[in-house]
Formats: sequence, structure tokens, C-alpha cells
Amino acid sequence: MKRQPESQALTPGLQPMFFAEATIHPRTVKGRFANLRWLVVGATQAVFYGLPWINWGERPAIWFDLGARRFFLFDWVLYPHDFIFLATLLILCALGLFWVTAAAGRIWCGYACPQTVYTEIFMWIERVTCGTREQRLKLERSPWSLAKVRCIGSKHLLWLTVALWTGLTFVAYFIPFPKLLHELLHFTLSPSEAFWVLFYSAATYGNAGFMREQVCKYMCPYARFQSAMFDPHTWIVTYDSRRGEPRGSRRRGAEVKPGQGDCIDCTLCVQVCPTGIDIRKGLQYECIGCAACIDMCDQVMDKVGSPRGLIRYSTQAATQAPARADTSWLRQLARPRIVIYVSLWLVLAVAWVWALSTRPSIRLDVVRDRSVLARWVPGGAIENVYRLHAMNASSKDQRLRLSVEGLPGLKLVDAPILQLPAAQAVWVVVHVHVAESAATPLKPGSHAIRFTGEWLDKHGLPATLTEPTTFLRPR
Ligand code: SF4
Ligand code: SF4
Repeated sequence: MKRQPESQALTPGLQPMFFAEATIHPRTVKGRFANLRWLVVGATQAVFYGLPWINWGERPAIWFDLGARRFFLFDWVLYPHDFIFLATLLILCALGLFWVTAAAGRIWCGYACPQTVYTEIFMWIERVTCGTREQRLKLERSPWSLAKVRCIGSKHLLWLTVALWTGLTFVAYFIPFPKLLHELLHFTLSPSEAFWVLFYSAATYGNAGFMREQVCKYMCPYARFQSAMFDPHTWIVTYDSRRGEPRGSRRRGAEVKPGQGDCIDCTLCVQVCPTGIDIRKGLQYECIGCAACIDMCDQVMDKVGSPRGLIRYSTQAATQAPARADTSWLRQLARPRIVIYVSLWLVLAVAWVWALSTRPSIRLDVVRDRSVLARWVPGGAIENVYRLHAMNASSKDQRLRLSVEGLPGLKLVDAPILQLPAAQAVWVVVHVHVAESAATPLKPGSHAIRFTGEWLDKHGLPATLTEPTTFLRPR
């Protein structure tokens, strides 16, 4: 399957970072894990391709509106201040990946990673257009002909179509799909929109069509550091060498000779492997845990009349344990490392949901207007000017009643009610006065005051927020 060219043979003690490899054409395999993978492919792609088409009121349900610096997540409207929620969500995903990896190895890589998912889709297109593994290998060796051009041309055409639609879908999370398609059809895409559509399309086309297992082996950082999360109790795809060795061929239905293992050395487990490795050599970092070799070997075992599970999901501890050792899944999962990861994840997830659902639907920022110094105004009052940034983080219009307090004689000169359209932020300039009688005894310098905003929340109940600032008394 995998050939290392003579010219690139390793010198003892030296290990090159990369060497060219022959294209891997994995054999098609059917079975319960292949079905599971297609189920995950269908579910993840239904979500990815479908979400930009779902509207929530007048707007997309999920929309990163970079121009207005806001992010819509169904009913929630998040502003840059709410970045903590997105950051925490990413931390939750990372922590989730940690405990899933510690418990079940590279299950993410084998079933749900976009690289795996798109490679699976691209390989399916390859099978439809260019045939089985044997037909593809024959096609690769054959000279150019009309039939070869037709096969390879239709494959690339379909690959490019999927890649382009994937690129458009990615950008549709930032530009609503109807607008994006209208711009595409009228050739009015902005340079940045065109760049991101083409960039994401090219990444999909290149990674799923050509790079494939090379991405997992050489480019993916997760593949490199996840071994730190593995221990002897981590669930991995394993070959039961105690049962399989010594390997040797035997005919269908023939008795296993004394001293011979169950492996018939058919190499089918190697031929289905998308990374081209031989799982019988033990755990290797190239293994993405896709279980194609399990499905294949189970079929072989069925044919030769031996029990399934020569290659199976198991742990190093279980495959090496004495027959009576407790290797149950419950025992494997109740390990301190998993308990700590899951507990941390649960605490963070509950805190995230609680904080997001109790988040005030209006935010207020107060900025002193530095271009206007504190000053005495006609009538004898001291005036300070502020710029207020009021953000409506809900999906309905709101009225915000403003007041200011903290010093005797403090008063808001401007209209105290702000109209905030749904999911919009407004800037207003307000003037605050302290009457002369109250200002005279004040010491020159800054004095703490606070703005208060009152509105009705989504349940129609009164809600308030306060924003501290300072009031300057000039000399
Ligand atoms: S598929 Fe099973 S029987 Fe065939 S070589 Fe692999 S481990 Fe051995
Ligand atoms: S060794 Fe088996 S589980 Fe690992 S990548 Fe190859 S086929 Fe998938």
C-alpha cells in the first residue's frame, strides 16, 4: 500500500519530517462502524449545510454579523463584550475533546472530524465515478484515454462542486445566504467575500481530495498531542495478538491448526485502512480510530468460521490483562482522569448555560467625552458630557429609562428615555449638570457617580443596570 521510494530510504538514526508516498486507495468496507460513520457524516453535514438556511424572525438563526460587530445565536444577540461566552464555549469543546479522547481515543478523528467527514464524501464520489479500488488502481496505471479523462474529469467536477458549495456555506455564516447567492449570480461579491469562498473551497478540495491522511499525519496538531491523554485504559482499535498469532493462511471452514492463530494474513485490514497502516503492528499514531479494519476483519472471521473481534475496540490493559481481570467499560470509565475531566466540564457547562440565560438583555457603556471638558455653564451649573453606548441584546424593541445619581443636585439634562430597536446598538451624547448651590461645596476633582438604566425584561418584569463613572468639578 505505502511505498517509501529508494531515494528517500532512511539513514539509521535519521528520520525525515516528510516523504512522498504513493496514493492510498482504500478498499470499500461495509459494516456497523461504516454505517455509524455515515450516520455521523449525514448528521454533521445536515447541520453544517442546513443551518444558514434557517431563519429566526427576519434574520438567519446563526449569523456572525462582523460589520455590526454582533453575533446572532437563535434568540441570543452577542456583542463583543460577550466574547467570554464564545471563549468559554471553545474551552468547553476543548475540554469535551480531552475527556472523550482520554476515554475513547481518537473517536472524534474517526467519525466526526471535518477532515474525515469530507474525505469520506470525496472517496464516495471517487467510487461512484472511477469504480472500486481495483478499478481505480488499474485506471491509475493505464495510459490516458477518453474513458480515463471522463472518469477523472467527472470526479474533479463533482469534487469542485462540493468544495465550492462548502465554501459558500461557510461564508453564509457571515453573509446571509440569499444576499450571498444574489451577489454570486450578479458577480458582485466583494474581494474579501470572494477570497473566503475560494479559500475555504480550495481547502476542502485540497485536503479531502488530495492531502487526506497526510493532514492527519503531518498537519493536525491534535494528532500529535493527544497521545498525552492516552493511558493503558483508553479505548483504542486493537489487534488481539494473543489470539491472532502466529498468523497463517487457511481455507474457508478449515480447522485452525494446533499452535496457529486466528489471523489468516489476508491483509484486508491493511487494504481498507485510510492511512495505509497495519494495525497488527500495534498502536500507531497514524491510526485515526475509524474502525474500518474492525468491520473488515469481522467479515473475514465470519467467512472462516471464527469468532468476531480479532480486531476490536478495546484497551491495552484489557488485551494484556489476565482472563479474570475486571475490564468492564464501567471500570474503565471510572478512572480519576475521566472523573476530573467530566466534573470540570459539567461545572463549566452549567455555569455557561446559567450565565447566558440570566444575562441582561441590555448593556450600557458610559464613556466620558474627553473632547468636552467639565465646565461652568450659564445659570451657574457644572456640566459634564458623556457618550453612552446602549446595546439591545434581545430580539425585540426596548425602551431604556436613564437616570443618574451619586451627588447632591445631580441631574440628566437630556431626554431620559432611549428607544433601542431589536438587536441594535445606539450611541447617544448626554449632558449631566450639578446645580450651583450643590456644586459650590464640592472639592475640585473627580467624584464617583453612576448611571442607572431601567427597562422591562422578556417576561415583562422590571430590570435595572448601573454603570459607574466619574463627574469632574473644575477649579
Ligand atoms: S483482516 Fe483479520 S484475518 Fe485478515 S489479516 Fe487482518 S487481522 Fe488478519
Ligand atoms: S488501523 Fe484501523 S482504525 Fe486505524 S486508521 Fe487504519 S483502518 Fe482505521
